[in-house]
Amino acid sequence: MANPETIVVIGAGVIGLSTASCIQQRLSPSQSVLLVAREFPSDESINYASPWAGAHYRPVPGSSPQVLREANQAERTYQYLKRVAADEPAAGIKFVKGVEYLEAPPAEYSDPQSLRNVYASVDGFRLLARDELPVGVKWGTEYGTWVINSPVYCAHMLRKFIVRGGQTKKYTLANMKEAFSLAQNVRTVVNCSGMGFEDPESFIIRGQTCLVRNPVSATITRQNTDGSWSFCIPRPLDGGTIIGGTKQSHEWDPNPSLDIRTRLLANASKWFPFAPESGGQFDVIRDIVGRRPARQGGMRMEVEKLADGKNIVHAYGAGGRGFEISWGVAEDTAGMMLENGLLQARAVL
Ligand SMILES: Cc1cc2nc3c(=O)[nH]c(=O)nc-3n(C[C@H](O)[C@H](O)[C@H](O)COP(=O)(O)OP(=O)(O)OC[C@H]3O[C@@H](n4cnc5c(N)ncnc54)[C@H](O)[C@@H]3O)c2cc1C
Repeated sequence: MANPETIVVIGAGVIGLSTASCIQQRLSPSQSVLLVAREFPSDESINYASPWAGAHYRPVPGSSPQVLREANQAERTYQYLKRVAADEPAAGIKFVKGVEYLEAPPAEYSDPQSLRNVYASVDGFRLLARDELPVGVKWGTEYGTWVINSPVYCAHMLRKFIVRGGQTKKYTLANMKEAFSLAQNVRTVVNCSGMGFEDPESFIIRGQTCLVRNPVSATITRQNTDGSWSFCIPRPLDGGTIIGGTKQSHEWDPNPSLDIRTRLLANASKWFPFAPESGGQFDVIRDIVGRRPARQGGMRMEVEKLADGKNIVHAYGAGGRGFEISWGVAEDTAGMMLENGLLQARAVL
């Protein structure tokens, strides 16, 4: 047998877990995967975005290269999550009705091609007629979408990775190149670190939401006239409901704001179909504050060849869409590795 080779994947968020799992299905017999991260599922840190995510899928219309790339990745993720939801109930995925109401829709929402680019692939997509829209709403749609209990899903992905023979190591890297020394014969490091390492294009988008016990059966998103967003996302497996939420670029406050919580819950009681017996009251489990790892122009996805023949494969900067595009990103990352001879093509097990 050839000299055993270890592929190191940095990051145990939804991007690293999906990518490690996808790579694992395409290894040659002499290769193995080591997942290295500062935080793993069940760890809590404001800088570890994945467990804080709602998470749901809401297509974002447009025609830019980034929108089209993400739409393609989101479509493959949608199909993948359908299979996992059917086969693995413990994964914490559920398909439910998704509804959107926009009070001040941006231009893309009146362009049929921009809408087709992202909504054509979701089940049951239909625009709501004027008489179906609530007062003040100018544009609305409904379709079939998924919701995920994000901490449960991440723990499930990690368990699958380990059961299939994957190795893990809890370690904080000061420099990405350290990763080449964490195992024998490392030729490839896959960088799924969320923010990257000192990338000037990376920035954070703060998100504050509130997790409540009150159940709701659909995920509803409402864009307010001032451009802010309100949403409710049921978390499968009795995980409560996420009421959201803020998107605050470059905002570093780690503390939940009581004012924001009050506004989110007031909007939710006005607009979302919680049971009438709750009387507009919420049974709050906790406030959530997380940092979405964003990047100007979207994710960095490329193979960087080093002078010594080693390779770094970058896949980071998913911003607010990490779950939505996760499996597509994982497939594209494995695809880049195949093209560069870093993985062997063979049947997926
Ligand atoms: C409030 C909120 C709501 C959201 N809602 C949604 C939603 O509805 N749908 C959706 O798709 N997305 C949503 N998101 C965004 C989503 O959470 C992110 O896009 C996603 O989690 C990014 O995943 P990631 O794996 O790239 O990064 P992360 O989850 O942040 O993981 C990064 C990993 O890299 C490791 N790492 C970083 N630096 C180092 C280092 N130096 N050494 C070792 N390890 C390191 C970390 O420990 C971690 O394991 C939401 C985010 C927030 C905060």
